[in-house]
Amino acid sequence: MRYWIETLGCPKNHVDSDKLEGLLGSDGYSPADSAEEADIVVVNTCAFIEAARAESIETILDLEERRKKGARLVVTGCMAERYGDELAAALPEVDQVARFDESFVAPTPVGIPSRRTNAFDLLNLPRPAARAPWAYLKIAEGCDRRCGFCAIPSFRGDQRSRSFDELVSEAEGLVASGVKEIVLIAQDLASYGHDRRRRGAGEAIEVLDDGGDQPLIALVNRLTPIVERVRLLYLYPSGLTPQLIDTILATNVPYFDLSLQHVSRPLLRNMKRWGDGERFLERIAAIRTAQPLAAFRSSFIVGYPGETEEDQRLLVEFLEAAQLDWAGFFTYSPEDGTVGATLPNPVDPQLAMERLRELTEVQDRITAAKRDARVGTRHVVLADTATTGRSTAEAPEIDGVIYFDTPQVPGSLLICEITGSRGVDLEATVIK
Ligand code: SF4
Repeated sequence: MRYWIETLGCPKNHVDSDKLEGLLGSDGYSPADSAEEADIVVVNTCAFIEAARAESIETILDLEERRKKGARLVVTGCMAERYGDELAAALPEVDQVARFDESFVAPTPVGIPSRRTNAFDLLNLPRPAARAPWAYLKIAEGCDRRCGFCAIPSFRGDQRSRSFDELVSEAEGLVASGVKEIVLIAQDLASYGHDRRRRGAGEAIEVLDDGGDQPLIALVNRLTPIVERVRLLYLYPSGLTPQLIDTILATNVPYFDLSLQHVSRPLLRNMKRWGDGERFLERIAAIRTAQPLAAFRSSFIVGYPGETEEDQRLLVEFLEAAQLDWAGFFTYSPEDGTVGATLPNPVDPQLAMERLRELTEVQDRITAAKRDARVGTRHVVLADTATTGRSTAEAPEIDGVIYFDTPQVPGSLLICEITGSRGVDLEATVIK
């Protein structure tokens, strides 16, 4: 029996799919070369915003048409969790809508493996050997915050951090299969371990002793000697303490993915989030003082209820001042069960799109200038493929890449001189 998994959404979903592959593999399934050849087609959906949900539905319908006769179609992931019953009713052609806590339950008419699991157990399952010289390592599931625009906690639950031992063992396995860069992810990375302390889980005490208030620091220190690069994604800004900044800089991957969402203080308070543009700029400046080559990424929500022209102006000003290397912008969509969905003063969707376009234009110009400024500089580049790689300034799958002038062995760490830029990507001569 062969399977095909189609994964939508963020890196966190990709890790779940990896784990699912491990589960299917251990139950005797093998990967198909295409969806058309698979006996089981699984769609791991995303429910982050309206556009992501629409893409998930389109993908399900597309795969429904493409699957071979008799193949089973299973929908899992965030949409299955959030809208399971509605999905099952609206898409009778789907054989199983599998929630996190019943993802792969047997016996089922769909031939899905017979092991009961849930989202968190899924994380603890073995994963298949890495297919690239980098891999995500999901260190926690769920989130204890309640940001006004975000429904994730309502279906992923409160934060549950994985133990050090599980994570170190998974990291060692990834390194043994050729991984040179481990990318740590979670919904709220900087809060890693806090739930274990609350629960009094034995190891958490040790973690907290090592890591002070931030077990993430101890974890990064444990992983850094194991692998060439440790990269951190999704840092809530208040969690970016001076100690964590020092720890990140000590990994030699001076890359800061700050989950800012906006910079207007009143709007952030309506979003139930910490901070404002001034504080964010201070932190960015402090990091640049310590490491001028540090790279920064962030994402922003546009059109949250009550957003004004003044808020937009502040965000444009912030982008100009912060000179982030990378930024993503998303238009707000009201999500059931969130604070945002109850707020007055919705922003007209057309206006939100206009604001998004303005922000994208500003950031595209900044990103292009920052990429151009790298021409003539030298960097250590990890070859992801024979033709492309990344320095520490580019996160996999999210940012641009560096094209080599000559074919290289994937997994090599190479010294390269940047010779040109092509949009977000760079061209390089391999020195050695
Ligand atoms: S930190 Fe906020 S935006 Fe991120 S997952 Fe948690 S609630 Fe959602």
